[in-house]
Amino acid sequence: MECLFCKIVDGAIPATRVYEDEQVIAFCDIHPQAPLHLLVIPKEHFNSLADTDPATSEPLLGHLLKVVSDIARAEKLNKGYRVVINTGPDGGQTVDHLHLHLLGGRHMGWPPG
Ligand code: 5GP
Ligand code: ZN
Repeated sequence: MECLFCKIVDGAIPATRVYEDEQVIAFCDIHPQAPLHLLVIPKEHFNSLADTDPATSEPLLGHLLKVVSDIARAEKLNKGYRVVINTGPDGGQTVDHLHLHLLGGRHMGWPPG
């Protein structure tokens, strides 16, 4: 198994976990871009959002967003936050395991680079 985030799911590579359930884990990004920068990922491997299954992935995708919003609420990000899913080469994705960035604790600029 070559995937970095699958290794984090399995515990072969350590990460600071902040949430886990049957389907997903959330952990701190190793190079935080904001005071709070978490990655929320499915335990099941998908290369990217583009690699999810239109027929079967809807409940998982909904759950990922629900977990992000639950964590943001628990972290008291009352002034807002940003959720990012870099997808594929043009999207700037560098780790090929679907992940949602949750960034908070500072004002975010727009447009993104
Ligand atoms: P992407 O660029 O694919 O959207 O995001 C990948 C993210 O994974 C980056 O923000 C990067 O800092 C983070 N990352 C890369 N390697 C590791 C690691 O070994 N541990 C953790 N916790 N985060 C990582
Ligand atoms: Zn993986």
